[in-house]
Amino acid sequence: MWKVDPPTLDASTVVATCARAIGDLTVATALVSSVDVVQQRTAAFVAAVAGETIHTERGSEYQIPGLTHKQISTVYSKHFVDQASAGRAMYDTIRLSTPWCLACGHQRVNTLDHYLPKSRFPALALTPVNLTPMCQACNQAKSTRIATCAEEVFVHPYYEDYESAIWLLARVVRTPEPHLSFACAASPWSAAQRARIENHITRFKLDRMYRTEAARLIAQSQRMLTRVHVTGGRRAVREVCLERESDLREYRLNDWGAATWAALSHSDWFCDGGFRAFAA
Ligand SMILES: [Zn+2]
Repeated sequence: MWKVDPPTLDASTVVATCARAIGDLTVATALVSSVDVVQQRTAAFVAAVAGETIHTERGSEYQIPGLTHKQISTVYSKHFVDQASAGRAMYDTIRLSTPWCLACGHQRVNTLDHYLPKSRFPALALTPVNLTPMCQACNQAKSTRIATCAEEVFVHPYYEDYESAIWLLARVVRTPEPHLSFACAASPWSAAQRARIENHITRFKLDRMYRTEAARLIAQSQRMLTRVHVTGGRRAVREVCLERESDLREYRLNDWGAATWAALSHSDWFCDGGFRAFAA
C-alpha cells in the first residue's frame, strides 16, 4: 500500500547478467533467447497493472520456451538471490529501495516478493518491476495465490498510489479487553478501492500486527499520559494525542501510529484515564 518509484533496472539486463553466470549451456542459451519474450511480457504486465486488468492475465502467456518452471526458479535463487551470485547486487538495489515493507509499512524489508508468482508467470521471474520489497511475514501471508477478480488484486507499490488520502482507520474497542481495531477508512475511496484496501488489510493480517504495536505504544506512553492527565485532565491528554497524530501524519499519512493516536484522541474514555487499562 506504500508507493515507491519503480526500479530503473531493465529486465533484459538482469536476464543477461544471470545468463552469463550459468554453467549449463542449454539453460544459458534458452535464457538469452528469452529476452524478447521477457520484454514483451513485461510490457504486457505493466499495461495490465495500469489498466486494472491484471486478474485477467493468464500464466500460459508468460511461459519461456525451452525452460521449465523449476529451471527458472533455480536461475532466480542461484544467480540472482544468492549472496555470492552475479545478480545479487541488482537484487539488493531493488531490496534497498525502501527500508520498510511496502505491504505493511512497518517491518523491515528482508526479501523481494514476486507480484505475480514465478511458478505461474516464469517470464516475469527476473523482471524488476515484478519484484517488490517486503518483510518475511507479508511475503508468507501473500503466498503464491493470485487474484481471481478485481477486488482481490494487490495494490502494486510501483504503479498505484494510495497515499493521497487516509485509508487506515483505527478505533478504540473496550471489550472484552481494551485494544485498537484497524480497518479501511471510508471517504474518499470508491467501493472498488475500498474492497482492495480491505482485502489488503485482511490478506496481510495488518489488524493483528498493528493492534500488537498499538498496545505496546500505549504501554510505553503510560507515564507520559498519566503526567499529562494529572495536570491537564482529559483535554490535555487529547491535545497530546492530536499532536502525536499530526507529527506521524507528516512522516507518513497512513502510518499505523498516526491512526492509533487519532483513535485515542477520539475516545473520551481513553483520554479521561482509560489509557491505564492498557498498562502492560
Ligand atoms: Zn510487511
